[in-house]
Amino acid sequence: SKEDVQAFLKKNAFVLFTVGAVVVGIILGFALRPYKMSYREVKYFSFPGEVLMRMLQMLVLPLLVSSLITGMAALDSKASGKMGMRAVIYYMTTTIIAVFIGIIIVLIIHPGKGSKAEFGKQQTIEQVSPADAFLDLIRNMFPPNLVQACTQQFKTRYGKRKVQVTITVNDTIFNSTNATQEVMEITREEVIPVPGQVNGVNALGLVVFSMCFGLIIGNMKERGQLLRDFFDSLNDAIMSLVAIIMWYAPIGILFLIAGKIVEMDDLTQMGGQLGMYTITVIIGLMIHGVLILPMLYFVITRQNPFIFIAGLLQALVTALGTSSSSATLPVTFKCLEENNKIDKRITRFILPVGATINMDGTALYEALAAIFIAQVNNMEMNFGQIITISITATAASIGAAGIPQAGLVTMVIVLTSVGLPTDDITLIIAVDWFLDRLRTTTNVLGDSIGAGIVEFLSRHELRSKDVEMGNSVLEE
Ligand code: ASP
Repeated sequence: SKEDVQAFLKKNAFVLFTVGAVVVGIILGFALRPYKMSYREVKYFSFPGEVLMRMLQMLVLPLLVSSLITGMAALDSKASGKMGMRAVIYYMTTTIIAVFIGIIIVLIIHPGKGSKAEFGKQQTIEQVSPADAFLDLIRNMFPPNLVQACTQQFKTRYGKRKVQVTITVNDTIFNSTNATQEVMEITREEVIPVPGQVNGVNALGLVVFSMCFGLIIGNMKERGQLLRDFFDSLNDAIMSLVAIIMWYAPIGILFLIAGKIVEMDDLTQMGGQLGMYTITVIIGLMIHGVLILPMLYFVITRQNPFIFIAGLLQALVTALGTSSSSATLPVTFKCLEENNKIDKRITRFILPVGATINMDGTALYEALAAIFIAQVNNMEMNFGQIITISITATAASIGAAGIPQAGLVTMVIVLTSVGLPTDDITLIIAVDWFLDRLRTTTNVLGDSIGAGIVEFLSRHELRSKDVEMGNSVLEE
């Protein structure tokens, strides 16, 4: 019928616009590069993209909280326990697979061959001990102040900080080189916001709180009804906002991508090690995203994974445009619920957690990058060190916030754990903005396929819950 055709066009217009936006953004970006815009001009130019980022980020906090609370409240503790277990097993398995793919690919391709090239900008990077980083992960799970958790994630800093010492003797300046650089021990605890986290939220803390809160009000019988209705209705309202913002998304994505291409560093240094490194990362992410995850989906559900992925296209493109899985979260919800018809009890429960802790792309990237840095420094990693890298890369991907380039920050943990020079992160900064977009897309894909798999595995619980709800409706 006419309405069907209209609905079809409307749905596909979205996808067409969004994919078109990426293409036009890339073309426009390269077309404008010769004009060598100033920093200010680039900022003005990409402003429509900045607005999209802000709109999406604006929704993350209410969406995350309301969806998790309603999601948990809609399930009894036994069902949510089972589904939670399945989700955790899926997250762990896929993350570990991703880490191994990263390690194997980087060992085979060996992009760090040859002597160390000097690319990146010099910059000293903070040392963090893995133990402290682990404790910080736990600290962030229990934010002492919920209001503050909505604005910032915190990191505690102990340990060592490099201090550059400059001494002037008779007008001759002695700058401390690496060898003589002082290492200052910080004995007092310093609490600092996680870099790059200024506009972010402590998603992990809010996830933990909302899950517990949802579970509690789900068990509160009539006394909990008011709260359940409140968060349910809040969630619906936010999702309606998402629908409006999605019409603007293609425009924002176009400018985000074009702006980034205009301002990126020249690609001349991409030859040699850095170029090989980029290719290695792309291959690794492709193997995980195009081969392993779809295969897993197929083996478990016996359904065509590529139809499932086609439904996700808009979320994937948004991830590519924003390089933030949290900012993409609203779109991921829409795609899964509307195109792929995933049960709301699953998406509400699984997606916010996934966007916060399940980052396959980031895990793959961190392990791969650490070994690349070892290769560049001609350091052989022994078996034990590779195992350490896989464990810390997994932890670092859990700890990384779903914001642009968070993975670069948590990589310090991986490098420190095996004694690699953290300053060498600067070697890969030049390409990180690009690889970040690809790993974010992989992260979102991993979360979404996880929702599909967990729904399939939980179909019995969902059905029996439906029957139970149906009964209670009859009794009323
Ligand atoms: N940008 C990534 C994300 O949001 C995290 C990372 O930097 O790896 O998923």
